[in-house]
Amino acid sequence: MGTSGIVQPLNRISGLPTRNFRDPFFEYAEQISGEAMHSQFNVKDDTCNACPIRCKRVVESEEHQVDGRFGGAEYEHLSAIGSNLGISDLAALMKATERCNAYGVDVISLGVTIACAMEAYEKGIITKEDTDGIELTWGNAETLLTLIEKICRREGIGDLLAEGSMRFAEKIGGGAEEFALHIKGLELPMHEPRLKQGMGVGYAISPTGADHCHNLHDTGTAKNVDFFKPLGAFKPVPADDIGPEKIRMLVYFTNWRHYMNSAVVCQFLPWTIDHLVELTNGVTGWDTNVWELMKVGERAATLTRLFNLREGFTAEDDRLPKRFFKPFKEGYIKGKAPSEEDFRQAIRYYYQMMGWDEQGVPTDGKLAELGILWARDDSAREVTSVEQS
Ligand code: SF4
Repeated sequence: MGTSGIVQPLNRISGLPTRNFRDPFFEYAEQISGEAMHSQFNVKDDTCNACPIRCKRVVESEEHQVDGRFGGAEYEHLSAIGSNLGISDLAALMKATERCNAYGVDVISLGVTIACAMEAYEKGIITKEDTDGIELTWGNAETLLTLIEKICRREGIGDLLAEGSMRFAEKIGGGAEEFALHIKGLELPMHEPRLKQGMGVGYAISPTGADHCHNLHDTGTAKNVDFFKPLGAFKPVPADDIGPEKIRMLVYFTNWRHYMNSAVVCQFLPWTIDHLVELTNGVTGWDTNVWELMKVGERAATLTRLFNLREGFTAEDDRLPKRFFKPFKEGYIKGKAPSEEDFRQAIRYYYQMMGWDEQGVPTDGKLAELGILWARDDSAREVTSVEQS
């Protein structure tokens, strides 16, 4: 069933983002689940070249005019443009997925930006006069299909929405920044940071903004730490713990994922760390090891940090939207959210473990150890020292 199979399990533990991450569960989750998709549509498997996993889904439907050439819905589609917009019309979601894939638009950014607009419409910050007469109401599948066309063609309200939630909120004002759910301008993926709290810290420190791909899914590491054993971490840590043990796992995991990205390895292949070392040696003829490859990942993470500092990002941008510090009042994670103080401490632990200073600037010692002292950006340091004084 691929990733579409996690819609219902996540909904049960308040991990399925619903109406712009505002509600703890989606009452129509079953209708947009992978099970429903497979029972109601002709779903085939497909694959990247020569991969035996075959995780790609292809959905075709003459009745609903869904063209299989553009693939099919994964979990992120069903959530970002489904539950997160309150939409339960599965046929419309299949068509919307086809259109997003055909245009090559990121479904997460599109869905979270439309969710921000729907919340702004609900609060009266924007009205029909601003939306070309379109009703931006939760659950409105026709609105979704219309907005995909307008965004991709940059027509009317679509021209502003195409800029993403950060710029949309800045433009309309009225407090919309509070519910524009992005980090460093990238919209949050469909993984709830009140449930996966280590992932919330990972979103904040990621060089590319809210990114779940080089990040820790700590509902998994709360149960099984086999992956971390070659690195010396043997004890599971609860998903809502963001203390030093969890941040140590985050550092190891994100650095390893940066290595995987550098080696262009798919994250869905269930290889262990030892497998990947063996694979790297087999492909390159090197005699490398876990320690060296972890350093490759750490070097990539540090270089991207220097790049961001040079471009004007600061420690202030290592943040999580305020919504995620307020717990849900019901559901599986009722009453659970990180405190702002614990969150800042977790960021500090991350900086310290990475060899970065209090402002998140890599120290000269760390750059020298990684062999990238040449990449030091003195202008970023001057800005930091002025802010500190
Ligand atoms: S597991 Fe990775 S490489 Fe294989 S089909 Fe899926 S995305 Fe492609």
